[in-house]
Amino acid sequence: MKKIYSASNLMEAQIVLDLLEHAYIPAKIFNQHAQGMAGEIPVHHARPEIWIIRDDDYDRARQVIETYENTPINNAHIHCPSCGEENPANFQLCWKCGGGLEVAERCQS
Ligand SMILES: [Zn+2]
Repeated sequence: MKKIYSASNLMEAQIVLDLLEHAYIPAKIFNQHAQGMAGEIPVHHARPEIWIIRDDDYDRARQVIETYENTPINNAHIHCPSCGEENPANFQLCWKCGGGLEVAERCQS
């Protein structure tokens, strides 16, 4: 087990986890319950952390995360067709329910 990333919030942690899983890198989120549901607990020191299961995946996982970090921020939003949650338009999967967003993208174009 190796810590690969410290996310600023649970949504970001979930995105990174999905990206890693798509690259066949098993990973887990820790501290995912550190943030109160209503956001009333300001915990700077307890950010959600992504840990990879296999240390050998470290270099590949870093590449995945660097690609994610270098992706230009797109301010457009789309709504998940499954749960209705708002997602950045460049997402392929809903951060909340994991549903595919391709349908929503097609509707926009
Ligand atoms: Zn959803």
